[in-house]
Amino acid sequence: MQSFADRSRVLTYQSCPRRRYFEYEIQTGGEVGGVRPVRLDMNLLLGSTFHAGIEILLTHAMCFPSCPIDDNGTDEAVSYALNGGGDWTGYWPSVKSMGLQLEAEEDASYVYYEQAALAEALIRGYAAFVLPDLLARFTVVDVEREEVGTFVLGDYTLKFGARVDGILLEKDSLNIYVLSLKTAKEWGKRDDDSARHDMQGLSECRVVEQRLQGWHKLMEGSETDLAEVPAWFRDRYKAGAPPLVTGVKMEFALKGRRENSPKGSGHYKYNNPLIRPWKKADDLGGDSYAISYEFQDPMGGNHRLGKGWNRVNIWEDMGVKKWIDYLMTHEVQGFEPGRGVMNQFILPVEYFRNAEDMDRWERQVVAQERIIAKGKKEISLGVVGGVIKLPQTPETFEAGLDEHFPMHTKACDWPTKCSFQEVCFGPKAYLHDPISSMLYQIRVPNHKTELNS
Ligand code: SF4
Repeated sequence: MQSFADRSRVLTYQSCPRRRYFEYEIQTGGEVGGVRPVRLDMNLLLGSTFHAGIEILLTHAMCFPSCPIDDNGTDEAVSYALNGGGDWTGYWPSVKSMGLQLEAEEDASYVYYEQAALAEALIRGYAAFVLPDLLARFTVVDVEREEVGTFVLGDYTLKFGARVDGILLEKDSLNIYVLSLKTAKEWGKRDDDSARHDMQGLSECRVVEQRLQGWHKLMEGSETDLAEVPAWFRDRYKAGAPPLVTGVKMEFALKGRRENSPKGSGHYKYNNPLIRPWKKADDLGGDSYAISYEFQDPMGGNHRLGKGWNRVNIWEDMGVKKWIDYLMTHEVQGFEPGRGVMNQFILPVEYFRNAEDMDRWERQVVAQERIIAKGKKEISLGVVGGVIKLPQTPETFEAGLDEHFPMHTKACDWPTKCSFQEVCFGPKAYLHDPISSMLYQIRVPNHKTELNS
């Protein structure tokens, strides 16, 4: 028995097994199992758009310093993220063809432009503030590579897919780090603790290490198969470095909260100063901008912005590109140049991963996925409670789901409304045919590797 999984579906199962079934497993006649809502989740789309832009920046950075990042590199990254190219559909083509999941009263046009501005601001902010320091310490040796790890437990094989944002080689130590970028609403101690225990660090380290160990073996063997081993790894091998990943470098781009604005209107707007800073009304003194409503003066006195200051949509004002440039080069509200951008990125020290943690991850995930593969097989064969019940009826199908993919109703409304509520609590017919509701469509695989596994 063999099956494919990745971090998202492992976590989805742990949140709600029923959701895992609908999102990834139900057979629909598509290339892979699972269905997705017809409309797009704005958080997922923003995350994908941001990653698409960073992929271009990091690809440019792979040849740093011979071809350093410049404005053109950043413009190209923004254009690719928003308009697409290659395998990436692009933000605008996606929202124009599918739309976003929004509350009834929301202004779709406003939300589309605000999301585009946020993605652009985070990409430009990353290029201006985060990337130069990253490149001073690390060499980017790989970007967005599709990896597949193989894990065996008895007669079961798990193919585990991972798309790693980047692989970093620390210049001084030759240590290898997996780069993991995320967008987050905000940041606090709980987020830091959670990142420390995040499975991504473990799963990606283990999968990348399988590849490094393969290269290491090739280096130890004959000279004939070395074409696939990159020069940086050969140099590292010759220096005596082991084929191990030291840890994960996580970087977080903060989106800010979406708040009801004006209160009670049903319209939501971001409170992120990269796209919605404060601006002083023209008749009160012209073009003054602020990045924080509350602030301290150099003597430690607390202040608030006074009369005449209002939030402004920067994409309708000076534009995102000019605003990020302005923030990087000018003092704003008494804050040093760059502070407004810096506040929107969290760059924790690297999280180190040890072999014991990774072994534990492997045992648990392989065992979990074997149970899922077995459950799926029993449902398809009409086995309920260990007994074959054919022909299968809607009742026996639901009994199989209850047995192997129980509903964790605690996850129905928190942290966000689950997009499968219509299947779970709607007409029974949706249970085995969600697409008939017209609310869902066949899932297209995120990882190309899923098709071959
Ligand atoms: S609606 Fe609730 S029970 Fe159904 S898949 Fe979502 S979280 Fe699970």
